[in-house]
Amino acid sequence: MREKKREEYDVVIIGGGAAGLTAGIYCGRAQLKTLIIEKALVGGLATYTNEIENYPGFPEGTNGLDLMNLFQKQAKKFGVAFKLTDVKKVKLDSPKKEVETFRNIFEAKAVIIATGGSPRITKATNEEKFLFDKGISFCATCDAAANTDKTVMVIGSGDAAIEEGMFLSKFASKIIVSVIHDEGKMDCNEIAKAQALSNDKMEFKWNTMVNSFEGQDHLETVVLKNLKTGKLETITVDTCFEFIGYTPNTEIFAEVVQLSKMGYLITNLNMETELPGVFGAGDVRNKELRQVSTAVGDGAKAGVAAEKFIAETEIFKNQILQKEKVGFIYIYSATNAPSMELLPMMQDIEKEFITDVKLNILDVYKGKSLCDRLACDVEPMTIFYTKDGEVIEQSSQCDRPHITEKLKSLL
Ligand SMILES: Cc1cc2nc3c(=O)[nH]c(=O)nc-3n(C[C@H](O)[C@H](O)[C@H](O)COP(=O)(O)OP(=O)(O)OC[C@H]3O[C@@H](n4cnc5c(N)ncnc54)[C@H](O)[C@@H]3O)c2cc1C
Repeated sequence: MREKKREEYDVVIIGGGAAGLTAGIYCGRAQLKTLIIEKALVGGLATYTNEIENYPGFPEGTNGLDLMNLFQKQAKKFGVAFKLTDVKKVKLDSPKKEVETFRNIFEAKAVIIATGGSPRITKATNEEKFLFDKGISFCATCDAAANTDKTVMVIGSGDAAIEEGMFLSKFASKIIVSVIHDEGKMDCNEIAKAQALSNDKMEFKWNTMVNSFEGQDHLETVVLKNLKTGKLETITVDTCFEFIGYTPNTEIFAEVVQLSKMGYLITNLNMETELPGVFGAGDVRNKELRQVSTAVGDGAKAGVAAEKFIAETEIFKNQILQKEKVGFIYIYSATNAPSMELLPMMQDIEKEFITDVKLNILDVYKGKSLCDRLACDVEPMTIFYTKDGEVIEQSSQCDRPHITEKLKSLL
């Protein structure tokens, strides 16, 4: 087999939806060499949505494809490169990360995972024909207003199905809920169940599953099958909302990075995963609201976090772990007055040892992640290391005699 071609980037973003494109805009604008890899359609899930009415800045609403084309144009303006291919494998636990496709291995200092997810479908007859904007929807927040005074169907009885069904009841005149269980049995929590059962607009079809979806260009009827009697019932609806689960696109990350029980990527609020230099953004994350606006927010944060990570890695390598002199780090906090009062003394010490010692002064607040890399948990703190980068002492003892004695012993 031919050896895969290697290419180097600062940042590789996996997934070219709203989150990935936004992360790309931020990284490109920060002049990082950035690549977005997209396996299907650049723009992601939003491109399948005809009408997006809740994305700020478009009071008349916008078409998902048009909106995503603008995102892509903006990313390209900042020099972001695109490859249309499927990421097959990743290696993310070392400083040089590898993202592997059929033909290439892309190396990167930071990787942003923005692979989104896919709504689960019923697999009933004709379903593919009506998906997304042809009458089958997976998003009540997105499509409820368009169904004002209409009849809709909800498939499912879990928390999402029932809570979204109740949200739909503020708009639609009737909500028919198809539940696979016996009468009164639902998969949602008891409070949602009680509220739904007493909602006049909601009608339940117990022991049913979808047999087929019917219509010309747009969905017109849903044929339900009674699981006990086998009887078919044809119901006229304007839209059918399916809430039978959502599958995050995280198969390739399963053994690589921490995922939730449901397979979502776990990040903190700065979009950092537990692996240094690996970030997550958008629907793939373990979070509450999955929308274009939240994907954009995540993408912006992930882009900035990746930029900061790369900059700090350079500082760490070139300034802190420099190999020309003996290293001495003083860590203080701008909110800790005694630690600030020691700053002039530290600078004096630097002057005394100027030819042989490199002093780095770090503010815990501003250089938090650098301090994390140094495992600094108290402030003030001093760290001494040899020219070879070996840490000799990490201590809260900050008096001048101790410091000068230590430095002399290292020369
Ligand atoms: C029918 C529908 C209507 C919606 N309407 C609205 C609305 O009106 N307003 C709103 O705000 N939100 C709406 N949403 C939600 C919105 O589309 C999503 O929240 C948003 O698209 C998430 O963006 P993302 O970038 O996180 O993920 P996605 O858009 O899913 O993008 C992820 C991308 O990653 C790619 N990918 C996955 N795996 C790989 C791999 N291995 N290699 C390479 N590429 C990969 C995928 O092909 C995909 O393009 C709607 C969703 C649906 C399903």
